[in-house]
Amino acid sequence: MDLDVVFVGTSGSMPTAQRAPTATLVRRGGERLLFDCAEGTQRQLLRSDVGLIELREVFLTHFHADHFLGLPGMLKTFALRGRELPLTIYGPRGLEELMRSLRRIFGRLTYPYELVELEPGDVLERSGYRLEPFAARHGYSALGYALVEDERPGRFDVATADDLGVPPGPERGALQRGEPVTLADGRMVAAEQVLGPARAGRTLVLSGDTAPARSVANAAAGADVLVHEATFCEDEAERARETDHSTAAEAARIALDSGVRLLALTHLSSRYSAGDIEREAREIFPETVVPRDFDVIEIPFPERGRPELVKSGARLPRHASAPTS
Ligand SMILES: [Zn+2]
Ligand SMILES: [Zn+2]
Repeated sequence: MDLDVVFVGTSGSMPTAQRAPTATLVRRGGERLLFDCAEGTQRQLLRSDVGLIELREVFLTHFHADHFLGLPGMLKTFALRGRELPLTIYGPRGLEELMRSLRRIFGRLTYPYELVELEPGDVLERSGYRLEPFAARHGYSALGYALVEDERPGRFDVATADDLGVPPGPERGALQRGEPVTLADGRMVAAEQVLGPARAGRTLVLSGDTAPARSVANAAAGADVLVHEATFCEDEAERARETDHSTAAEAARIALDSGVRLLALTHLSSRYSAGDIEREAREIFPETVVPRDFDVIEIPFPERGRPELVKSGARLPRHASAPTS
């Protein structure tokens, strides 16, 4: 099961020539989850090899304009294409009020949409994983999101299964799913006899906009990847405090405290280069990357390697055109 993160927009507050404001796409198997939808997100998607696909779910972290201004335009485009597929929009308390005001902009749609207001501590159970919104420190209602995969069954011990006389075929499948089987000669074989210890799933955490926060560190404990905002460097620490944002060093300390495997910094203020942010963070937490728009982080299962930044991993080759649905 593939799991990766596409950095659709990585600048903080306003677009720059190189970076679009915040949007992050998480891909797990065939699922596509969009987190935040800043101005220009639909065009960013069109410029990537993802395309402007019929997203089923959009998650907002909070209601600052640099995180949702792309939503009315995208909803409208879906309607112009005659979309019928329902869409669900998740966000913190206040989502319904926000959408009531935006409705005047996007008008009537050709498809139903559902709004779900979330609180820290809620859990969205999915097939194979869960989404856990947690409190960020950024104004009165801001959320981060943790994607936590279920434990996987242990490794199947083929030699033991052979010794026990389990024939190849459906019996082995059942045992791998954790179910006991009865063999042709009437003997019972329990899953525990042929499976190793359960293996951890992967955890991906998106902080959203936030000042350094214990709640973020807790959510990120042992995560494979933490995507954390780093709007400033330490020379603007005071400004970071006033605006409830983080410096690169602060984000790095959170990563260090929570023991994540890889830290990805995003939401960069236009006054810093990626190099400034990266240098400051790496002094504290060497496993830090600062993705550009269209970079991808691939997150393999732990036994298959480390999470890895793939530069321009979602950039559309020149002259190619992206899928539109
Ligand atoms: Zn922001
Ligand atoms: Zn904000």
